[in-house]
Amino acid sequence: MPGFHVVPTNLATAARLHVPEFSPGSVWLAGAGPGDPGLLTLYALHALNTADVVLHDALVSPDILALIATPRRHSVGKRAGGARTHQLRINQSLVSLARAGHRVLRLKGGDPLIFGRGGEEALALASAGVPFRIVPGISAGIGGTAGAGIPLTHRTLARSVVFATGHDAQGGLPDDLDFVALARTDVVVFYMALRQADLIATRLIAAGRAPDEAIAFVSDATTPRQRVIEATLATAGAVAARLDPHAPTLIVAGPVLALRAMIAPLQQATPMTLEPAPYAVAGGVP
Ligand code: SAH
Repeated sequence: MPGFHVVPTNLATAARLHVPEFSPGSVWLAGAGPGDPGLLTLYALHALNTADVVLHDALVSPDILALIATPRRHSVGKRAGGARTHQLRINQSLVSLARAGHRVLRLKGGDPLIFGRGGEEALALASAGVPFRIVPGISAGIGGTAGAGIPLTHRTLARSVVFATGHDAQGGLPDDLDFVALARTDVVVFYMALRQADLIATRLIAAGRAPDEAIAFVSDATTPRQRVIEATLATAGAVAARLDPHAPTLIVAGPVLALRAMIAPLQQATPMTLEPAPYAVAGGVP
């Protein structure tokens, strides 16, 4: 395969990067980014290497999960509509695993504090007196839109962007989303909104956006399965109904989408991939 493996070109300098200790009895609440392992932070990579136990979301990509060194890994997340481990149980597990003296990595898709309930986990750890570190990650709204060739705040076209959720605790569109304010924002990026696409589009139109305004559905961004489907507010519901409801998807609305046609075709967006492990060949370990 062409290209390079990740070996620092300046090993001597890289070796001097001093990573704060991931101490036994603590929790790192880390973001894994939108999917491409290349979008992990160095903190997250360090935690993947050194954690004793990992609790991860279903959203974290397989190539990133493969980087976890410990066999003690548990999926505690949920996929849209799927089974879900109760948040309180996750909070309790984090506290008890840390109190048992483990280095606990809580790994979440994107950024842990953006629509990820990381704040609740941080509060639970704080109130239990468990030491923890919050490791930010590249949120899908930032990394996923970039991967799709959408310059979110292109000068002259957009001076404001909003990240909004299309999903409340019951799975419906949150009652308190202020569509008048959203419609006045240049660019709107909805998370967890595929099932509500029709209603969201209707509400944006009612609040003043043009029915023929372009929108984009960005699914599995920054992974080899990335798909970007363009539609308009008027066709949003019909287009959303044909998309895979299980693929994590962003809905993006705003004038900057017009630039995608010029950027995306020439953009290099191949993600980092894990090559097969050296011993993963027929015949097994020599
Ligand atoms: N903490 C995460 C968001 C969790 S909510 C973050 O900061 O990105 C889950 C939603 O994130 C999904 O429903 C989808 O809207 C969005 N999402 C996460 N990863 C994505 C990806 N690779 N491509 C598109 N959308 C993604």
